Amino acid sequence: MASETTSGSLLTVLETEHPEWRPLLAVIKEALREAERPQWARFVPALGHSARGGWPLLDGAVINVTPRLVGRWVRHILGIATAAWTEVDPLARRITAGGLDPLLLFESAVSQDVERFHEIALVDRDDHGLLRGLASLIAMPMLQNCRRAWAEQTPTDWAYGYCPICGGWPALAEMRGLAGARHLRCGCCGGDWRTEWLRCPFCGEGEHEKLGSLMSTDKLERETVEVCDRCRGYVKTMTTLSAIRPEHVVLQDLATLVLDVAALERGYRRPAAKGHEVAVSVVAESSRLRGLLGL
Ligand SMILES: [Zn+2]
Ligand SMILES: [Zn+2]
Repeated sequence: MASETTSGSLLTVLETEHPEWRPLLAVIKEALREAERPQWARFVPALGHSARGGWPLLDGAVINVTPRLVGRWVRHILGIATAAWTEVDPLARRITAGGLDPLLLFESAVSQDVERFHEIALVDRDDHGLLRGLASLIAMPMLQNCRRAWAEQTPTDWAYGYCPICGGWPALAEMRGLAGARHLRCGCCGGDWRTEWLRCPFCGEGEHEKLGSLMSTDKLERETVEVCDRCRGYVKTMTTLSAIRPEHVVLQDLATLVLDVAALERGYRRPAAKGHEVAVSVVAESSRLRGLLGL
């Protein structure tokens, strides 16, 4: 089963087990590969605050980045994404034809402002959340690098259900190690924060009568779905010995799609909006300035 394999081979396993996902996996693979390119690390913004009071670290960030890096990445991923989602084609064409600034699209993706992303992409309906998923993948190289660069400054006592780094809702939860500590994980930036067992990450409900476990998929109960009857939210939970690699949370999320289906069939949902709004500005870095600074 996919969740028992090492993360490194998970992509291959998913490609083999689900040939129908290959176009989607190709997009995810590119986002993960892009996140490893050293150029992104250079553009991680300096932190302006320490995430106290529930403000994710990304909030207020000003990302000074070369338009060339962003333009190349946005054009590249949109090109690949059109094979997975034909709905993306008009957006890819606008970007290629110069009708839309890639920096603008990138800014809405990094701030995970779904409404703005839809507005910029000229999309009225996104019933299956395809564009929303694409926005996360466009943001992924930047956000994964922010998570790495800010590791020391990320609070360890984060008491909120959304990600302390990017403000997104958790993609899944881990019941980790022999002690079974509960950790929430962010699919976009790879964030990892410990949380209480009996607490809905979405609405904060803590009454056990309102919280339940929907099902287990095998005898060992490695994977379950925790549900909340107050907000009708759900979070997939998997038992792990050690932390899922940050870059592969997005793959584990996909690998456990059967749990999403089970939850949706019972009327539970992942919240549509992101956990906590973050204001992010993406600014075109002047190449002349870079030249003057000797960069
Ligand atoms: Zn995050
Ligand atoms: Zn809830």
